[in-house]
Amino acid sequence: MNKHFNKNRFSSSQKAELTCDAIDDNGKGIARYNGETLFIDDFLPGEKGEVELTSFKGKTVEAKVLKRFNSSPSRVVPKCPLYKECGGCSLMHLDYQAQLKYKQEKVKNLLHKFGKIEFNPDPTVGMDDPYRFRNKVQVPIKRVNGKIVSGFYQENTHSIVPVEDCLIETKQAEAILSGIKKLMADFRYDPYDEDRRTGLIRHILIKESFHYPEIMVVLVTAYNDFPGKKNFAKAIAELSPSIKTVVQNVNPNHTNVILGYRENLLYGPGHIKDSIFGLNFIISAQSFYQTNPIQTEKLYGLALTKADLKGDEEVLDAYSGTGTIGICASRKCKNVTCVEIVKEAVEDGIKNAKFNNADNVSFVKDDCTAYLTEHKNDKHFDVIFMDPPRKGSTPEFIEAVKNIKPQKVIYISCNPVTLARDLSYFKDAYDVVSVTPVDMFPQTAHVETIVGLILKN
Ligand code: SAH
Repeated sequence: MNKHFNKNRFSSSQKAELTCDAIDDNGKGIARYNGETLFIDDFLPGEKGEVELTSFKGKTVEAKVLKRFNSSPSRVVPKCPLYKECGGCSLMHLDYQAQLKYKQEKVKNLLHKFGKIEFNPDPTVGMDDPYRFRNKVQVPIKRVNGKIVSGFYQENTHSIVPVEDCLIETKQAEAILSGIKKLMADFRYDPYDEDRRTGLIRHILIKESFHYPEIMVVLVTAYNDFPGKKNFAKAIAELSPSIKTVVQNVNPNHTNVILGYRENLLYGPGHIKDSIFGLNFIISAQSFYQTNPIQTEKLYGLALTKADLKGDEEVLDAYSGTGTIGICASRKCKNVTCVEIVKEAVEDGIKNAKFNNADNVSFVKDDCTAYLTEHKNDKHFDVIFMDPPRKGSTPEFIEAVKNIKPQKVIYISCNPVTLARDLSYFKDAYDVVSVTPVDMFPQTAHVETIVGLILKN
C-alpha cells in the first residue's frame, strides 16, 4: 500500500484497535501504532475504537474510525448535519469549553515546539454563543446535477459540499445567497466550471456590517463583460434593504486565489461601514477586515490593555490593514503611523482616519520590513503593534524593531507556528510578559494569539 508503512506493523486488513492520545493542530485525533502516528477524523482523547487506514500522504498516515467503543466526556453531537462531509469546521464534535482549552494548549505547545518559548498562555477568550458569528461569507458557485449550488470544499478536494444553512454564517447572509442563486437562474448566468473553463460566476462574497444595516455583495466573475450586469446588481439589491452596494470583481485566471485585481462598481458606493468601540470603519471588497465582529472588540481591547498607553507615545501599527487598531489606539497616544502593503486598504485607512477625526494617524503604503529597515535609525516608536498575515513577519523587521527599541511590542497573530518562530527572534532583547489566545474562529482549529513583549533592561 505504501513504502512508509510496514505491513508487519499493522494487520493485513489495515485495521487495528487504537486509543486516541491527543488532538493535532488541525483538529484530528492522534493515535500511535508501532511507532507510526495516525491522524484520525472525529476521534477524541481517551476514546478507543476500531480504526482503518485510509491514506498515506508522505509520512502522514490517515485513518478513520469504523467503530467507537466509548465516548469522551467532551464529545458533543455536532449541530451541523453536514459537519462530516464539509471541510469548513473541524471541532464541532468537541464541547465549546474543551475547544477553548484545546486552543490554549495548542498555543503553549507550538510556542515550545517552534520558538523554544516556555510560557503558560491565559485561558482562551471565548464567545458566549459560538455560532452565526462570521460577518463575511465567501463561497464558490457550481452547477451540480443541473442545479446552481454554493458551499464548501470537501477537505483536500475541489468537490463542493452544497451548504444551504451554514451555522457559523448569519441567517441574513444565507437568505441573500439563496436569493442570488435564484436570480442567476432567472438571468441565465452559468457558474464557472474550473475544468472546462466555461461559465461566468466563480464566487460570491457577502460582507455584512454588525452595527449598521449595511451589506456588500461581491460577484467574482471569470470575465469582464456580460449582458445585463447592472440589472442583475439592481435585482440583487432588491433582495434586502440592507444591501447597499454590489461590486463585480473580475478573476480570469486559472487559480485558487478568489479575488482578481479588476473591479467594477455595479450598484451603490462600493463600500459599507461598521463600528468598533464607537468608531466607524469602511469595509470594501479588497481590504482586510476582521471576520468575527464580537471577538474583534475583545481582541483590540486586549491589545490596548497590554499596550497601556499614557497619552504621549509614538505608536506604529504594522500590517495595519485599514488602520483599525491604530485608530482605536489614537485616542490614547500622541501619534500613530500605520504601515500596510495593499493599496486599497491604505486608501480605506486614510478615509477611516478622516471619518473619525483621528488627525494624529498617518498611513504609509509599503512593505513593513522595507519601511522599518529604512527607518531603523531615524524613527522612534514607544509602542509597536504588529499583526502580520499567516506567514508571519521577517527577521529583518524584528532586527529593525530591536534597533528602534520600543518599550512594548504587541504581537497579534493568526498562526501560532510563525508567531513562535518570530518570538524566538525577539528573545535576546524582549521578554514575553503575556500570551492570550482569542477565539476568533469557533468550531475550527484556528486560533488568534496576542502576545505582550517588553524591552529587557
Ligand atoms: N491589523 C489589521 C489587519 C491585519 S491582517 C486588522 O486587524 O484588521 C494583515 C494585514 O497585513 C493585511 O491587511 C495585509 O494586506 C497586510 N500585509 C501583508 N503583508 C504585508 C507586508 N509585507 N507589509 C505590510 N503589510 C502587509
